[in-house]
Amino acid sequence: MKKITIAIDGYSSCGKSTMAKDLAKEIGYIYVDTGAMYRSVALYAMRHHLFLEDGSVDTDNLEKEMPNIHISFKLNPDTQTPDCYLNGELVEKEIRTLEVSNHVSPIAAIPFVRKALVAQQQKMGEAKGIVMDGRDIGTTVFPHAELKVFVTASSQVRAQRRYDELKAKGMAADFDAILKNVEERDYIDTHREVSPLKKADDALILDNSNMTIPQQKEWLMQHYQTAITQK
Ligand code: C5P
Repeated sequence: MKKITIAIDGYSSCGKSTMAKDLAKEIGYIYVDTGAMYRSVALYAMRHHLFLEDGSVDTDNLEKEMPNIHISFKLNPDTQTPDCYLNGELVEKEIRTLEVSNHVSPIAAIPFVRKALVAQQQKMGEAKGIVMDGRDIGTTVFPHAELKVFVTASSQVRAQRRYDELKAKGMAADFDAILKNVEERDYIDTHREVSPLKKADDALILDNSNMTIPQQKEWLMQHYQTAITQK
């Protein structure tokens, strides 16, 4: 069977990666979490003191450091999903902290960061058979993807999900701080100059505020079946 490209975009913490990961596993496609790539650059910048006192980024030095930032994914045999590595170090846990969440959107707004990561993402998808999730996959990375989904849910619901996720992992969580972070990231992601978060004209909208994970999965599988038969 011929393979297609599936682009899943949407707001922070709306369950994009859960559904994208599940779909990829089910249909035997590669899954790429592009948020993990921006988070890894943010982690690198934090560790190398590339944030200035006022929270802005030392772009001159980050630009010089870009050739030293290598991001890769390796399949975790236990979870059967790819784990993110920064310069060979497994960083799955480190990149999911609220501190990284608070630093990632300014990093993702920098044109040279986006250019480098988008080029890498396009390379990963050259052979199709890929499910990629992010903010600009259907608009910029794969504008010709055969299936595009734009996921959304209310900010309260998203903050609650993120809170539950951190708690389940035994990590510290403060609901109000998470809600503030979700709303701030929405603002920066939709207002930045380069590739702002926006629905592609041909994307299907999925508002999952009141949907369970199995319901979402069914919705997505149905649209996948339609996309492969239409192509
Ligand atoms: O998906 P996740 O919440 O992990 O993404 C972290 C951040 O990375 C987002 O808030 C956004 O600023 C940025 N991002 C992006 N473009 C993508 C994926 C993520 O700008 N394709």
